[in-house]
Amino acid sequence: MALNEEERRERHRARSRAWALKNPDYQKEYYRANKERILRERRPANEEDAERQRGWNRRHRARCPDKVRAAARLYREEHPGESLERARRYRQTAKGRATAARRDAKRRAILGDTECTLTHEEWEQILERNKHRCYYCGKKLKRLTMDHVVPLSKGGKHTKENIVPACKSCNSRKYNHLWFLC
Ligand SMILES: [Zn+2]
Repeated sequence: MALNEEERRERHRARSRAWALKNPDYQKEYYRANKERILRERRPANEEDAERQRGWNRRHRARCPDKVRAAARLYREEHPGESLERARRYRQTAKGRATAARRDAKRRAILGDTECTLTHEEWEQILERNKHRCYYCGKKLKRLTMDHVVPLSKGGKHTKENIVPACKSCNSRKYNHLWFLC
């Protein structure tokens, strides 16, 4: 019985799949040997192309989360230090510092599930509003710390409503905020 075009293609695909299953390392080795060319050919030619690729990636992440996680783990193992280096650079940015502050607030808060939402944009706005001066002593400084008006240890939140800029010495003075609240 003669096969039509579609059937021939399907048989070819089935044979390829079976062969790939029997030779699991072949694809990996082929990729390794031809990595530069493959990556070059895969590079998006224009914005439309890039958006299409982002779509593929999104759907792939949604459909095979375990595969994607495993691949990421493998990448980290094969490139030790790279993710540490990336994390180190991120911590030096305004965004990274805000992330670290939220994590720190969460750790110090009396309830672990306290609201910790302050973004670096909000912190910049707070600094602007206070003209880069310490809220308590009025000193103008480049580096101001975040002071929680209601302390985290008393149930205060790490939110823009509960944070003022303070110089280091005012921030470390215990209960300074109470003078202003009372
Ligand atoms: Zn001060």
